[in-house]
Amino acid sequence: MKTKLTHPVFAVISDCADEMNVKAFVIGGWVRDLLLGRPSKDIDIVAIGSGIELAERVAKKLGDNYHVNTYKNFGTAQIVYEDYDIEFVGARKESYRSESRKPVVEDGTLEDDQNRRDFTINALAISLNASNYGELLDPFNGRKDMESKIIRTPLDPDITYSDDPLRMMRAIRFATQLDYTIEPASLASITKNNERIKIISKERITDEINKIILSKKPSIGFKLLFDTGLLHYIFPEMVALHGVEIRNGKSHKDNFYHTLEVLDNICITTDDLWLRWAAILHDIAKPPTKRFEPNHGWTFHGHEDKGARMVPKIFADLKLPLNDKMKFVQKLVLLHLRPIVLAKSEVTDSAVRRLLFEAGDDIDDLMKLCEADITSKNEYKVQKYLKNFELVRQKLKDIEEKDRVRNWQPPISGEDIMKAFDIPAGREVGILKNAIREAILDGIIKNDYEEAFGFLLKEAEKLGLKVRS
Ligand code: ATP
Repeated sequence: MKTKLTHPVFAVISDCADEMNVKAFVIGGWVRDLLLGRPSKDIDIVAIGSGIELAERVAKKLGDNYHVNTYKNFGTAQIVYEDYDIEFVGARKESYRSESRKPVVEDGTLEDDQNRRDFTINALAISLNASNYGELLDPFNGRKDMESKIIRTPLDPDITYSDDPLRMMRAIRFATQLDYTIEPASLASITKNNERIKIISKERITDEINKIILSKKPSIGFKLLFDTGLLHYIFPEMVALHGVEIRNGKSHKDNFYHTLEVLDNICITTDDLWLRWAAILHDIAKPPTKRFEPNHGWTFHGHEDKGARMVPKIFADLKLPLNDKMKFVQKLVLLHLRPIVLAKSEVTDSAVRRLLFEAGDDIDDLMKLCEADITSKNEYKVQKYLKNFELVRQKLKDIEEKDRVRNWQPPISGEDIMKAFDIPAGREVGILKNAIREAILDGIIKNDYEEAFGFLLKEAEKLGLKVRS
């Protein structure tokens, strides 16, 4: 390992630890990522003694510019060195009570500290003292588990998960990020302890969900969350998508697995967390809108509209931001069926203009979502639908070049209308503004001031309004 500890800060920590006569190790995620070849900027140092004193000495040796942020309550200290975040802590031994994930903490040995780690791959430590600089301390065979791609707890999984139920989410998150298998006893234990997820804060749970969503293949994580029963506690609306009902010999697709396919598909074309969330939520209202119509079979009328209305509550429950990101997701859920309609050959310019106007700058993301939504097993159909969407993209491009409605503001504002007729803000202004916008979108008049003003005069006359002389 010696040759891998090339960063100059390790030599400084090593000197300081020897001067203080304490043992020091780099531990946890940084070591895991080093062995996995994933460069990481978060370095955790554990000292058999005071982490804070070690950090202070290291900062002094690094030079005048380095400051130690101390968190006395936690016994931790932090130094920001270039773009590295280095955390120092004394080795600890932890014991837990059943009602909380906050442990009782005492000073401990390196082994105690490794015992309290969540997974064998996260319990690896490398010594920094000169006498055994670079020696890997791997009491739970974390390296072997890395080779076999296994997530395993260092201690009895029932204890590990029950002590801190967030670890159940972390196990599934690491399995998804690294494409590892959760060892069977661990998986059974997560299922057994799933109800304990209730003591974890929503923010922490959502943090892990977002990391799963940002993985290359998030379906791995969501299937594990479903199979272990965790999803039932943390995101019941998604569980409701699961299952197939058959009536009069007619069935519908399983919307849970369909949603996961759409999510995996969209991950190929985007890294954006919110577009990925839109994929998760695009059919979320299928369960509450599901009907069986004897002549048609299963229908989900209005699921896009109801789905968009469900988004704020889901975001609030999951402590996701209630800002423009949420509005973006809502908009995509609402519009996700619209491009399909535009694929029909006899579609009018006005329908294309309307979609451009409503989607605005999000039109490209909407098209990505629609393409990801094609999950047929029949490759011929997939190719046919993709071709249709190519045509839709072309129509959108043509109309946008011609009419520029994508970020469009109508040529006459409410203010203009109030001035022209000397009327206060109110219902009439709204009616007139709306009429102009609709006329332009429908192609009845051109998108310019002159035509719009002429149209406005005619519409105003219908309301008995006269231009101010
Ligand atoms: P990432 O950086 O991808 O979020 P990480 O686990 O490396 O993952 P941290 O959450 O900072 O990052 O954790 C650092 C180390 O602390 C872990 O490698 C693990 O050894 C330990 N750890 C973190 N959370 C827990 C936990 N809930 N239970 C036990 N050990 C934990």
